[in-house]
Amino acid sequence: MKAAYSPILKSTVDLNAIKNMTYKITLIPGDGIGPEVTEATRRVLEATGVSFQWEPAYVGAAVQQTAGTPLPDEVLTSIRKNKVALKGPVTTPVGSGFRSVNVTLRQSLGLYSCLRPCKTYNGVPSPYRNIDIVIVRENMEDLYAGIEFAKGTPEAANLITFVSKASGKAILPDSGISIKPISETRSRQIVKFAFDYARKYNRRKVTAVHKANIMKFSDGLFLSVAREVAKEYPGIEFEDRIVDNMCMQLVQKPQLFDVIVTENLYGDILSDLCAGLVGGLGVAPGANLSSDLAVFEPTHGSAPKYTGLNKVNPMAMMLSGVMMLKYLGETAAAGNLEDAIAAVIAEGKSVTYDLKPQSPDNAVGTSQVADAVIAKLKL
Ligand code: NAD
Repeated sequence: MKAAYSPILKSTVDLNAIKNMTYKITLIPGDGIGPEVTEATRRVLEATGVSFQWEPAYVGAAVQQTAGTPLPDEVLTSIRKNKVALKGPVTTPVGSGFRSVNVTLRQSLGLYSCLRPCKTYNGVPSPYRNIDIVIVRENMEDLYAGIEFAKGTPEAANLITFVSKASGKAILPDSGISIKPISETRSRQIVKFAFDYARKYNRRKVTAVHKANIMKFSDGLFLSVAREVAKEYPGIEFEDRIVDNMCMQLVQKPQLFDVIVTENLYGDILSDLCAGLVGGLGVAPGANLSSDLAVFEPTHGSAPKYTGLNKVNPMAMMLSGVMMLKYLGETAAAGNLEDAIAAVIAEGKSVTYDLKPQSPDNAVGTSQVADAVIAKLKL
């Protein structure tokens, strides 16, 4: 009998369907470097001895050409059925083209919480040590809500007229407009998630990040809800930071921070900033969670210029796999895999170029990292 899922994730599904000897997992390789890091991760996960049945699912530009959509319904159906997915990065066209598959997938499945641990492993190239920050990013609203009006459209013109009447403020007629909704409901949900996480994992502090001095009705609402929720958790310290100040403080004294809870856009930016503090995007994992579904994926994108070169670091995706194992209740396998990854980093021989900035010519490739991690597993 396999152990129950981690209670912090509050899974409400009947787990018996996926708690047999084999876990059925939706596997989304993505595009760009996605297929390479996904394959490396699949190999190390299987080498832990946990049994998986992978259900492949394809998304992105290539799929759009054949299916007419970059995110076919069957992908969402597969995740809803299997409850758990492991996902590689997917390219989003810049400025035009289809909307982000990543954002649409999270919103369609109600994966309201994005959990991104950033921790320093011995041997990573970073001037910092002893960082152990967890970013909790709201995934459903903010400027990522996808409510946008293109310059010159009748909808944009109507909105400009309405705003002018309602607020007395002029918007230039040649403006494109993106709407930033921040609700009390989603703010409460994400801040509670952050505090529940902090309580469950004995974290000492939650920092809410916002720009409430400028956006009084959106970020101001987020902050006032965060202050209210914080009162329900008297054992956990609470503070807030304005996002620009937060960036500076994270660079100067990151050890001050523990759990960070924030809106969608700030969470996206701070995730990359914190990844930079702990050695880069190659070692920054993540999970997108609802009460009953989970999609594990690295923080990084599809890094198109490295596609097919067997060059990039698969560890961010492998560490997302560690998070998945913990979620599945496979605590021993999770610890074994994380220790093996940490040992490969500490040894510094079989690592990719990003972890060898002084001697990138001695770096190994994506699949060789998988070989090295497998060799370090305690079986
Ligand atoms: P990116 O994260 O793909 O890459 C930025 C740089 O980080 C790379 O050029 C590389 O130097 C480094 N990097 C990233 N992953 C690495 C790894 N595993 N090992 C070593 N170095 C790594 O960001 P980008 O270039 O801004 O975005 C590329 C595409 O990815 C865009 O289309 C973007 O929309 C998309 N994207 C997708 C996701 C996702 O699928 N969840 C997330 C972020 C960006």
